[in-house]
Amino acid sequence: MLEQILQELKPYGARLVAVSKTKPNEAILDIYTQGQRIFGENKVQEMVPKHESLPEDIEWHLIGHLQSNKIKYIAPFVHLIHSVDSLHLLQEIDRQAQRCNRIIPCLLQIKIAKEDSKMGLSETELLQMLESPAFHALQHVDIQGLMGMATHSDDPGLIRDEFRSMRQLFESLQNNYFGKASSFRELSMGMSDDYHIALEEGSTLVRIGSLLFGAR
Ligand SMILES: *Cc1c(COP(=O)(O)O)cnc(C)c1O
Repeated sequence: MLEQILQELKPYGARLVAVSKTKPNEAILDIYTQGQRIFGENKVQEMVPKHESLPEDIEWHLIGHLQSNKIKYIAPFVHLIHSVDSLHLLQEIDRQAQRCNRIIPCLLQIKIAKEDSKMGLSETELLQMLESPAFHALQHVDIQGLMGMATHSDDPGLIRDEFRSMRQLFESLQNNYFGKASSFRELSMGMSDDYHIALEEGSTLVRIGSLLFGAR
């Protein structure tokens, strides 16, 4: 399955985050030995022991909701946090990154789905954050792009519209705010059920779990 997914990503130049939440180390090692290095987890308490017991060259991506009191456990090693949904959280990531003497790459999670259950910043909240002096004071986070989850739906048109509006927001921020030469380059969208649409709409990072590891 890994090989097939990688072949599908290739023409788009997108990368795979293998979402290993709830899966045991053996399942991760199986994919690792086939060459995969980026793994995604949604819980700090699950990522930390996996980081400690699995190969050091795995790049751990946090994709789930993050509580500010747990950042300290992943700050020394996390490769990318996809799920930043408030300035408060970003300030705490910045503080913990400074303590570790590093810069932590982050994506801003945008609420694109109509469903209430999905987390993320609204476009208004995002723009307010980007204009705030507190945001500009941060020195130990690197904002590398946006993440979003589409509505869980059978309607491919709805999913496409949501991904497309996120890409448009991404491009307008790239052109008018961060700049093309900045590290603001990643658009994390697409999961097992909708990654084909996400790729067509410009995703650079797809987060795939069940298709790769089997149902949870
Ligand atoms: C679980 C999860 C995924 C992967 O979902 P699958 O449908 O198993 O591919 C992707 N993104 C986030 C944020 C997740 O929590």
